[in-house]
Amino acid sequence: MSSFQAEPFKIKMVEKIQQIPREEREKALQEAGYNLFALDAEQVYIDLITDSGTGAMSDKQWAGMMLGDESYAGSKNYQHLKKIGQEIFGHQYILPTHQGRGAEKVLFPLLISQGQYVINNMHFDTTKAHVELAGGKAKNFVIDEAYKTDKHHPFKGNFALDKLADFLQSTPREKIAFIIVTITCNSAGGQPVSLANIKAVAELAEEHGIMLVFDAARFAENAYFIKLREEGQQDRSLKDIVREMFQYADAFTFSAKKDAIVNIGGLLGIKDDEELYNKIRSRLVPYEGFPTYGGLAGRDMEAMAIGLEEGLELDYLEYRTSQVKYLSDKLTAGGIPVQQPPGGHAVFVDAAKMLPHIPYYQFPAQALANALYLEAGVRGVEIGSFLLGRDAETGEQLESPLELLRLTIPRRVYTNNHLDVVAEALINIKEYAEDLKGLEFTYEPEVLRHFTARLSPVK
Ligand SMILES: *Cc1c(COP(=O)(O)O)cnc(C)c1O
Repeated sequence: MSSFQAEPFKIKMVEKIQQIPREEREKALQEAGYNLFALDAEQVYIDLITDSGTGAMSDKQWAGMMLGDESYAGSKNYQHLKKIGQEIFGHQYILPTHQGRGAEKVLFPLLISQGQYVINNMHFDTTKAHVELAGGKAKNFVIDEAYKTDKHHPFKGNFALDKLADFLQSTPREKIAFIIVTITCNSAGGQPVSLANIKAVAELAEEHGIMLVFDAARFAENAYFIKLREEGQQDRSLKDIVREMFQYADAFTFSAKKDAIVNIGGLLGIKDDEELYNKIRSRLVPYEGFPTYGGLAGRDMEAMAIGLEEGLELDYLEYRTSQVKYLSDKLTAGGIPVQQPPGGHAVFVDAAKMLPHIPYYQFPAQALANALYLEAGVRGVEIGSFLLGRDAETGEQLESPLELLRLTIPRRVYTNNHLDVVAEALINIKEYAEDLKGLEFTYEPEVLRHFTARLSPVK
């Protein structure tokens, strides 16, 4: 047996990519307002901005696309998706949505009254936005280790159970809408949550009569880490672990653009609450579409049904996580500070450590992301104070506990040679890191500002 997991696939189709010259990258960055979201994809050589919807579908998924039954109601692809969803998650009701945030938009207003808290290990950005749009207040209870990039912990996505228990104890029940467990915990670095922690959160939720919802975009990667790292889980199948995980949830929202390896799609699952299911179906129609298509074409649902199973294959998940680790190890060997251990879908570079001269309000991780684009045409994304935004009441810029550059690895898309280019570029940047400048706004929108803001380097 080889000492590493090579790609458990061979390549049947390729897409040309190229690196535009440095002068063109400089011009492109300036025109983009120093915000990499505003670049044209063709100006990017290796695109690590997200693993969402950017994966490569398999031959089987493409074959499934040809089997699209585009009936408005009752499509056979919906029947297939529902059956696979019920098998994998063990939830009775499975509804399609156009993507994860569609599921959030449909579900959250049914569960939140004005001013209520929604508790999470750590809210993902659209999840937080939908909590707030529904009148809720987002609270995070991830363990402190999540904020210490150099401290090893096998499950950095875990809830701080003592803090959660205290909060539930000291807060009137009617002030709390529901609890979310984000698996894996995206904003903390794609870090997994242990089965024991999920179970303990579920017990607390039950004790206080609070509903538990999973934000399940990377449930398969989370299950793989449970199998790999959690005591007593090694001999279980991934499907078995997933079934146990989802037993603890009353409902889940799911972005299929991650672990179901499709370019678009989402799901809403409800374990057994028929009344909630009926309410959701009524909201689904005006927002997403009739409940048997939910904003998707029949062919999209077929690709998702197949992708759900492929995303849970053991050799695929071994390859997937070992590729993330490959980049992480290369960077570590080159003296670049990264979140340890690496999570499931991305490597997080600690920009606060790499650029200690840039204060949080001048967005060090954004400065590093821009430098990486200029150096090699690689596009990463800032996860720090730029993403976090301002205090809703005072308007003050909040200080993120971490200033991270996320290098997100699309599924089945790049080889380790591409990742070598990324590692080499960052190691080069280290040599002139102290010359990099912070950024200030020239245009700042109010909601989810990091997508459309314009910046310029501080003089
Ligand atoms: C991607 C993601 C979402 C939102 O899903 P979309 O498909 O992008 O709308 C929600 N939560 C988490 C944890 C995610 O990673």
